[in-house]
Amino acid sequence: MASSRFNRRAFFKSAIAGGAVLPGIDAAAAPASDGAFFDEPAQKLALKDDADVIVCGAGPAGIAAAVTAARAGARTRLFEVHGCLGGVWTAGLLTYIFDFDKPGLTREITRRLDERDARRSKHPSRFVYEPEEMKVLLEEMCVDAGVKFQLHTRVSAAFREGSRLRTIVTDSKSGRQAWRAPIFIDTTGDGYLGAQAGCGWEVGQDKDCPCQPMTMNALAVVKDAKALAEFISFNGTDEFKGPGGHLTCVEAFKAELRRAGIETSYGHPTIFPVRDDLVMLMLNHEYGIKPWDAEAISEATVRSRAEVFRVMRALRKLGGVWEGLQIAATAEQIGVRDGRRVHGRYTMTRQDLVEGARQKDAVARVTFGVDIHAHSREKNDTETISHGDLKMKPYDIPLRALIAKDVDGLMMAGRCISGDFISHASYRVTGNSVAMGEAAGVIAALAAASKRLPHEVEWSEGAAKLAAMGQRV
Ligand SMILES: Cc1cc2nc3c(=O)[nH]c(=O)nc-3n(C[C@H](O)[C@H](O)[C@H](O)COP(=O)(O)OP(=O)(O)OC[C@H]3O[C@@H](n4cnc5c(N)ncnc54)[C@H](O)[C@@H]3O)c2cc1C
Repeated sequence: MASSRFNRRAFFKSAIAGGAVLPGIDAAAAPASDGAFFDEPAQKLALKDDADVIVCGAGPAGIAAAVTAARAGARTRLFEVHGCLGGVWTAGLLTYIFDFDKPGLTREITRRLDERDARRSKHPSRFVYEPEEMKVLLEEMCVDAGVKFQLHTRVSAAFREGSRLRTIVTDSKSGRQAWRAPIFIDTTGDGYLGAQAGCGWEVGQDKDCPCQPMTMNALAVVKDAKALAEFISFNGTDEFKGPGGHLTCVEAFKAELRRAGIETSYGHPTIFPVRDDLVMLMLNHEYGIKPWDAEAISEATVRSRAEVFRVMRALRKLGGVWEGLQIAATAEQIGVRDGRRVHGRYTMTRQDLVEGARQKDAVARVTFGVDIHAHSREKNDTETISHGDLKMKPYDIPLRALIAKDVDGLMMAGRCISGDFISHASYRVTGNSVAMGEAAGVIAALAAASKRLPHEVEWSEGAAKLAAMGQRV
């Protein structure tokens, strides 16, 4: 895409001619590239060894892990590539939370959103929240807990000593830096740290995907949300608007889109009420994008953002209740549903859902069912969302699924934990991500304090610590 207009060689030439400093690189000493490969010169990096626990990625799971580890007494560092905390909650403009009615940090976040009047609906498990309020709340929580967090910082490499993960490298405005700690937690969603550290992993339905589609969410301002009530799902204090439930609003909205001459790439285009005349639009599906393919993700981002604007302009042309419709923001990060699932000491499977598996080291109980968005446009036309063809019973996530199998000193939390495609399509929602992060955070803190590895700490110790902290009672 952009590569055709961006001349790398010309950029470097002009940067060097203009005296720009490329941190850590002595350009004159760099060897010439050899065919398809370039030998990157080794560098001496500034190393910080001042943390007990390092958390990589600040989505719902990473925030929960970092806050909990810090509250449990660990010196905690958190790295996030975007300019805000929250992952898909904020950079992804999600605005809707599932499976949140659990003891612990989920209840605290719910209460603190209520104190800010930043939550629509009083349902304890599924509700709309305001993403900008969420950003500020998460910053407050991290600051208060004493988490040292760095935004605009990408975790780019990981290094083991034997089987033990010891050091990571980040890239940021400060250049490349190295960080050491006894325990690391991968909360990148994509399992990026686990992959860099050499863990085995799975993705999508089989080895080469197909993955669930990506979606670009957007905030929009409408002239009068009350006049649009029949098209807005999850409205007011009731879960579902309209006598026929959620689909009624979606179907009514789809009819409006047809009237405007538009068929969206997502078969269930949905409007969420955020606050007053602010709504969230979930309109698009980007199919067949691999979560590690930066070029394909860039193209999907551009395409989906253009679709959002196309829909907005077509609706606005209808006039009436759609008059004055404006996009207030599109997501900084296209929403990624599927990423690497890093191999753990236990792998959750479809069978766990069928049986309603109980685990002695259960860190969370999942009540959300299977939600598989179509992996192709053709499938979207026949079955936009499937539920895995099973009757799910609430099941447990064991601590073992949060501990890497192939690399010591590494835990995972959130959507990159160890599970198969079907179970991932259920446990990945944000209530479970928070509960997993909380569990990983407390176990990591206990392991670091006692110089043990995470698998040497019993979950009963973690649960007792959370109770003593007053976090899970
Ligand atoms: C379109 C869409 C709709 C969804 N709908 C819902 C819903 O209605 N309700 C619900 O509860 N869940 C929903 N989900 C699922 C849910 O949002 C995710 O599964 C959840 O965000 C998982 O949380 P996480 O913390 O594991 O990952 P993420 O939220 O993806 O957070 C990962 C974080 O790590 C950062 N990161 C990644 N790589 C690096 C790196 N190398 N260095 C530094 N930082 C890095 C990312 O920037 C991000 O902030 C939806 C997901 C999508 C995509």
